[in-house]
Amino acid sequence: MISCVPDSHPITPASGAKTTTRRQIPAKSSAGGGADTAQGCARTFLNNRYVYLVISPRARGLSVGVNLNPDKVCNFDCVYCEVDRAKPPLADSLDLTAVAQELEETLRQVANDELRALAQFRNLPQALLSLKHVTLSGDGEPTQCPAFREAVETVTHLRASSRVPFFRLVLITNASGLDLPHVQEGLRLFTPFDEIWAKLDVGTQEAMNLINRTAVPLQKVLDNILLVARKRPVVIQSLFTAIDGRRLPEPEILAYAERLKELKDAGAEIPLVQIYSANRPSPKGHCRHLDLRELSTIARQVRAISGLNAEVF
Ligand code: SF4
Repeated sequence: MISCVPDSHPITPASGAKTTTRRQIPAKSSAGGGADTAQGCARTFLNNRYVYLVISPRARGLSVGVNLNPDKVCNFDCVYCEVDRAKPPLADSLDLTAVAQELEETLRQVANDELRALAQFRNLPQALLSLKHVTLSGDGEPTQCPAFREAVETVTHLRASSRVPFFRLVLITNASGLDLPHVQEGLRLFTPFDEIWAKLDVGTQEAMNLINRTAVPLQKVLDNILLVARKRPVVIQSLFTAIDGRRLPEPEILAYAERLKELKDAGAEIPLVQIYSANRPSPKGHCRHLDLRELSTIARQVRAISGLNAEVF
């Protein structure tokens, strides 16, 4: 549930993006239970290195995530990112055999209702504890994972076995690598039932420089969303935040809605635009969430300008 934080000062976008979020990989830490966050939602890793559980508002329940970027490397440096890159990672490389084992065991625990033994799940309604999907996501950008195709193969092979209940697969991406050959190969393994959720927070390069802080141009992100959304539906994920108490000014929101309209007019199938905000301060500490009223205003503007379905989460 999003609570209210006063903010009434627009951010002034400025050009001059920095490039990538890179970090030195420290020595591998031991695996173990741990909690972290994914855009405001507590993640639980059980005893896993790669597979985690989260009760996700946008999934409307239990989401099982596969972290394809255990090294925490991302080609964006979003101002609101909740990945704490000062903390050592649970793993420094992707071990797909371990991914398969962890995912199978986690799905078994979910199916057998064993999550109730954990304090953070004990008192949740049953509807929240039934599996909504398995995500390919992570502490970075999954399409930048060199083993993306192999990771999709690993997960879809497990799904095709009789060892786990069938599940929907969702790729959560900043869209920067959707055109990469190995990503396109991986996406060919997706069924029509599976989904792609792509990030689009802004409508101008200036705002992207301020919010996503990447060398990847906005036009590249838009082109990649269109490339995929002409072939299969793509859900758009848009996070709005206040930086030092300042939010994006109205013209930037209108430009963002115009980009969505242009995508739709160019043939992109976008069944839903998810509008939400950072629920918790980022490790950088200067981002705060927008209140429900402001998010609802943005959703109305998206609906009015683009004609797309937009919901606040
Ligand atoms: S794309 Fe995701 S992981 Fe990368 S910096 Fe942005 S919020 Fe963080």
